[in-house]
Amino acid sequence: MIGAGFAGLSTALHLAEAGVSVVVLESHEPGWGGSGRNGGQVIPGIKYDPSEILAKFGPVAGEALIGFVGSTADLVFDLIAKHGMDVPHRRAGWIQGAHTPAMVETVKRRSAEWQARGVDAQFLDHDAAASLLGTDRYLAGWVDRRAGGVQPLAYARGLAKAALAAGAAIHGQSKVVSLTRSGATWTVRTTQGATVTAPRVVVATNGYTGDLIPKLRQTVIRPNSFIVATQPLSDNVAGTILPEGQVVSDTRQLLLYFRKDHQNRLLMGGRGPFREPKDAADWAHLERVVGKMYPQLKGVPFDFRWCGRVALTRDFLPHLHEPEPGLLRAAERHGQGDGGLHRHRRQGPPALPGRADHAAAPARAERTLRLGDHRLVPPHRWRHEGQGGLSAGSGPSRRRHGSLRRSARHRPPARCRSPSRIRRSTGTARHWRYPAASRTGPTESSR
Ligand SMILES: Cc1cc2nc3c(=O)[nH]c(=O)nc-3n(C[C@H](O)[C@H](O)[C@H](O)COP(=O)(O)OP(=O)(O)OC[C@H]3O[C@@H](n4cnc5c(N)ncnc54)[C@H](O)[C@@H]3O)c2cc1C
Repeated sequence: MIGAGFAGLSTALHLAEAGVSVVVLESHEPGWGGSGRNGGQVIPGIKYDPSEILAKFGPVAGEALIGFVGSTADLVFDLIAKHGMDVPHRRAGWIQGAHTPAMVETVKRRSAEWQARGVDAQFLDHDAAASLLGTDRYLAGWVDRRAGGVQPLAYARGLAKAALAAGAAIHGQSKVVSLTRSGATWTVRTTQGATVTAPRVVVATNGYTGDLIPKLRQTVIRPNSFIVATQPLSDNVAGTILPEGQVVSDTRQLLLYFRKDHQNRLLMGGRGPFREPKDAADWAHLERVVGKMYPQLKGVPFDFRWCGRVALTRDFLPHLHEPEPGLLRAAERHGQGDGGLHRHRRQGPPALPGRADHAAAPARAERTLRLGDHRLVPPHRWRHEGQGGLSAGSGPSRRRHGSLRRSARHRPPARCRSPSRIRRSTGTARHWRYPAASRTGPTESSR
């Protein structure tokens, strides 16, 4: 497994539980990428409504995909409970605020569609939305009570801990720099020179995909998403904002997403410059939004600003690619729920001992691409397509020894906080150590 975000960790957990030998290699530490930085909104579904999914994929694959995307949040909250993870979380639902009259009609239809499928969902007129949101800036909305919020870095660490307990090996500071195949065996080499050989390799690098596989990076666009967090609000003030604790995003193409965390901070996320941030001014638009949305917060200090890269597929659908035998890479349009990745991963493992079991996977998984098919998504397109992300599949591995060289400590991009700097205020999970893969034996050193 290359990459220890939600995708790599969840896949490792499920594979290890199925008795497969798994090694996870991570450039930095588990949760360092989008997973540890994200907004913590666990929302079932994808960009498309059930009727659109049926129109695209027909009744059989369409229903399978609807079932898949509809159950993603269940998996996240079930995993937290099953493994007793120390993860602040609350399952009070997700509100999608409509910002134009046309979008009012969209959310009305959306809520009716899910309601007809037995989901605890409700259209909210202007007054009902205002009372749940604590702001009247949206024309209307809908609430989906399957959703909720988690502290994402704590959750990534919870997954890592559960995967270790199930028998997976996890190595931090172990950037994979080469990937070669000889017959049915893949050899993965890290910056320290350690190698892992395996019949299957899963690339779970998402928005942090580098040049490991030629052209892979070009298959997605990887914008930065930005978040600010206020200082903890007093109970009086916090009670006026999202009083029932829902997580929120809106219908804009470049959407705003916000929630209150377990420390009563208001987190506001949204667009930002595509480049790495230069200074606090790059988050100023989000701080202004907070003051407009909640005038009682005007002038409130912001304790944290951070950002991270998400990855967008062209069609906002999950993809499972097997560019070469034994090399799996799943790409998943995201932004509609931390749950999507996990559900996908859970369906993945049974397919892995052989080639991808396309029948068991979501609809787009049947489209296996060759590397040569990967096309560049022009940078301007994400502006039209909104925010999201993608991520990876799963696969077993066998370990070998390698040499150890101390890796340089990662320095996050200028003023873009890495999870280790965020966790002081927003994480409660214990910090686990993940030694680099080494000659002394990765398995022992990682447990
Ligand atoms: C600011 C922000 C807010 C978000 N908010 C939400 C939200 O509220 N809800 C939601 O559902 N989604 C949200 N997302 C999207 C979501 O976080 C991502 O889709 C998800 O975390 C992707 O998980 P992943 O495991 O695929 O990738 P990541 O978590 O990005 O992990 C990829 C890992 O691969 C590692 N890596 C890369 N190259 C190598 C290599 N060569 N060798 C070893 N390791 C390597 C990286 O270090 C990284 O840790 C948000 C994303 C961001 C950035």
